[in-house]
Amino acid sequence: MKNKIIWACSDCGSRNYTTDNREKSSERLTIKKYCKSCNAHTVHQQTK
Ligand SMILES: [Zn+2]
Repeated sequence: MKNKIIWACSDCGSRNYTTDNREKSSERLTIKKYCKSCNAHTVHQQTK
């Protein structure tokens, strides 16, 4: 089974990235990624 994680920018709410979550415990809840809408690196949070 694959659990897809959607990463959404915490500043503007854009869903910029998706990753497959194969490991249960090693995933972070937030990551810093580039957001096209903000034109900057922002904190992205997991959404379902
Ligand atoms: Zn953004």
